[in-house]
Amino acid sequence: ARTKIGLLFGGCSGEHEVSINSAKAIASALAQGDNLYHYEVIPVYIAKNGIWYAGDIAHNILKTKQPLEVETNQSRWQFPPLVSEIEVWFPILHGPNGEDGTVQGLLQLMQVPYVGSGVLGSAMGIDKIAMKTAFAEAGLPQVKYMAVTRPQIWSNPCVFPKLCDEIEATLDYPCFVKPANLGSSVGIAKVRNRQELETALDNAASYDRRIIVEAGVVAREVECAVLGNDDPKASVVGEISFNSDFYDYETKYTEGLAQLHIPAQIPDAIAAKIQAMSLQAFAAVDAAGLARVDFFYIEATGEVLINEINTLPGFTATSMYPQMWAATNVPFPELVNRLIQFAIERH
Ligand code: ADP
Ligand code: MG
Ligand code: MG
Repeated sequence: ARTKIGLLFGGCSGEHEVSINSAKAIASALAQGDNLYHYEVIPVYIAKNGIWYAGDIAHNILKTKQPLEVETNQSRWQFPPLVSEIEVWFPILHGPNGEDGTVQGLLQLMQVPYVGSGVLGSAMGIDKIAMKTAFAEAGLPQVKYMAVTRPQIWSNPCVFPKLCDEIEATLDYPCFVKPANLGSSVGIAKVRNRQELETALDNAASYDRRIIVEAGVVAREVECAVLGNDDPKASVVGEISFNSDFYDYETKYTEGLAQLHIPAQIPDAIAAKIQAMSLQAFAAVDAAGLARVDFFYIEATGEVLINEINTLPGFTATSMYPQMWAATNVPFPELVNRLIQFAIERH
């Protein structure tokens, strides 16, 4: 009998539409490899209000790529009946409520194998402050940063100017202000002066209780894909280039604004260093299954700084993660097969 794969997609995050695209790519890969792998895909769609749908509704969303119109304020949490038949879960939800350990906790409780990192790895991987603490502990070089919390920004008007003074004393302009627990560059600002810093902190606080401020670097952006559990492997290194001020939401999701280069045109020794650092980062946050690790490469000095790890990276047909594996001799359908096998192995 074919193993029933619960493809969990959509979700309550800003990356809902990206998730639909990732799921569609995975579903077609599984259909393509059908005679090879013997999986049956059961799409399970989480609408923007948190309600789960399987059956015709979920199939239809994969086909049309149109999110379901729902009342977002009417959240009831419901499982469709098909859910109990699922033998392996493949959550492909990006950002909060999916990549952050919340869904992983639920799947862990269900005692069914699932693709990707567990609760700790997912939670560490989404929180830029926790992530950087783990990277520092592992001795991985990274930009200088400061952790800030919402109460320092909002609660007490006397604290805020002191906080900004402290940031200015610690980090030079330009610096980057980011909500700690998002992705896709949502809520991120590059700031060049005090006024922009104040506005950016206030804005970031509207997204998250935890905020990070980082020293800005001028660097090439390179990435590496990791696959496996206890003995993970690193892919060839890829590079992203663009003309925008930084790799913001618009640049990420507007066709033609960013170019992918696989493999990256960098010295072999630098690529080897990036691969080794990727595996260290994977272990540092206790990731499993898959992760994409992103770096800044400062060509002038040969320095490589780790930027972040993404435990459920974009997985559309044109995304970096599957493309870097394709360039490492793991084609898309085989990549999906291996991820499912790693989920079973880890259970
Ligand atoms: P996300 O998890 O949303 O992708 P990132 O931390 O990767 O957030 O930041 C998004 C983009 O912002 C990066 O790809 C890069 O272009 C730019 N960026 C972020 N931090 C820095 C930094 N410290 N110096 C220079 N550019 C940065
Ligand atoms: Mg990220
Ligand atoms: Mg990023």
